[in-house]
This record gives sequence, C-alpha cells and structure tokens, in this order.
Amino acid sequence: TFGLQGKTAFVTGASGGLGAHFAATLASCGAEVILGARRADALADVAGAIRETGGRCSTLALDVTDAASLAAAAPSFAQVDILVNNAGIVRESAFLEHDAADWDAVLDTNVKGMFLATQAVAGAMKAAGRGGSVINIASIVGLRQSGNIVSYAVSKAAAIQLTKVSALELARYGIRVNALAPGYIETDINREFWDSDSGRAMIRRIPQRRLGQANDLDGALILLASDASRYMTGAVIEIDGGHLC
Ligand code: NAD
Repeated sequence: TFGLQGKTAFVTGASGGLGAHFAATLASCGAEVILGARRADALADVAGAIRETGGRCSTLALDVTDAASLAAAAPSFAQVDILVNNAGIVRESAFLEHDAADWDAVLDTNVKGMFLATQAVAGAMKAAGRGGSVINIASIVGLRQSGNIVSYAVSKAAAIQLTKVSALELARYGIRVNALAPGYIETDINREFWDSDSGRAMIRRIPQRRLGQANDLDGALILLASDASRYMTGAVIEIDGGHLC
C-alpha cells in the first residue's frame, strides 16, 4: 500500500535541505522523481546521489514564482502523480522592523509559488485522468504563533488554507491535497542557529527535547504520497516533537 512503483513525483526546491531529502525518500520507495530548482545545474549532486542508490530521477529548471517558467515546464508535468510543494524562503526580523520587500518575497514564493505550481501540475493531472497527490510543505508556525518571522508564519497559515481550498475543488478529479506541518527540523542552513544559546534554549522547550531530523518526516511523506492515504484530503499532519516552543 505504501509503495510508489510506477508513480512519478515532482519536488520543487529540490537542490538541498528538505527538498533533496524528500526526493531521495520518494525515489527509494520506487517513484521516478523530477527534481525542480531555479537552476538545473544546482541539482547535479542530488541527482547523482539518488542514481547511486539505484533511484530514477531527472532535473527541471523551474522558478515557482514565474508563470513563464511554469508554462515552459508544462510538458514535464504530464506524467506527474505526486507534487511536493517544498520551495520556500524565510526572512527573519522583529515585527516592527520587518521589511515590506521581505514580506513580498516570502508571500510570493511560499503562497503564490505554491498556488501557481499546484495550478500547473493539477491541470496536467486532470488532463491525464489518473488523479494525484499534492503535498504542501507548510510549518507548525502556520498553526501557532512564533516570533521574528511574521511574513513566514502568515505565508504558512495561507499554505494551510490553500491546502484545504484546493482539496475541496480538486477532489472531483481524484486529486488529493494535504499538508505537512513540520516543527523545527535540523538542516545545513539552520544548524548554526541551533548550536547557539537561543537555539539550545528553544530545543529545551520542545516536549521531546530534540530537533527533528529530515527523516522524521519520511513516514508522513510516504503516507501522503501513496495510495494508503486515498481517503485523506485537506488534512494537515503536524510533525513537531510536541512543539510547545
Ligand atoms: P532550504 O532553504 O534549504 O530549501 C528551500 C528550497 O527552495 C531551496 O532549494 C531554494 O533554492 C528553493 N526555492 C526558493 N525559492 C524558490 C523558487 N522561487 N522557485 C523554486 N525553488 C525555490 O530550506 P528547507 O529547510 O529545506 O525548507 C524546505 C521547505 O520546508 C520550505 O517550504 C520550508 O518553509 C519548510 N519547512 C522547513 C522547516 C525546517 O525547520 N527546516 C520547518 C518547517 C517547514
């Protein structure tokens, strides 16, 4: 039930961090994976690592905020059964100092980008008539308050509502849309922060008293990608060690 053999997955923002991990996980379950990134050459290492372990993948240059880039990529979407909307950015600052340009950039990528990518891929899924699964990477901060990341927190709340609304409208085509809401997951770009005094203090306030690792998300990712979640749509799965940060 959890196998992904015969399915094609497309992961946005797959050149590093969680996106690269999601792509490798889906490939290890048998999916053929299309890796997306703004620059295709940034995907060489991730693609190489997947192929080394016997996985199948291809690469695609795609900026999720750019309608022309999505239109150019459209032919690649015909085979896609699983879309992972992972591309996202964050800008940190106190509320009163939060820059309007940062607000625009974060909302543009995390909300409009997710919307445009879903619209493009779900349109292709409808045309192919095989249904599909869309997995939106939200965040626990879209459900609960968190300081110094106002635009990001608002964007992830919007991603959750986008999940529910698109789930409602796309169900008639057999397309399911669900969200993962991870808590704090350790990756290369945030490792330094977690090693600081304020980072360590936050970790002590997570009920499980540790950061998440990318592979802590595997079970929920595979569930949502596979037919095992065939009666789930519009759901949000929280994976956060109990959060309470
Ligand atoms: P990351 O910065 O390593 O990865 C984000 C990826 O998105 C990068 O590869 C980047 O190039 C890509 N990207 C940015 N803008 C893009 C665009 N316009 N078009 C295409 N690709 C674009 O960060 P990450 O921690 O791996 O985050 C991945 C996702 O998980 C994000 O949506 C993030 O908000 C979410 N998330 C992360 C955590 C965490 O603790 N790491 C927690 C909850 C949610």
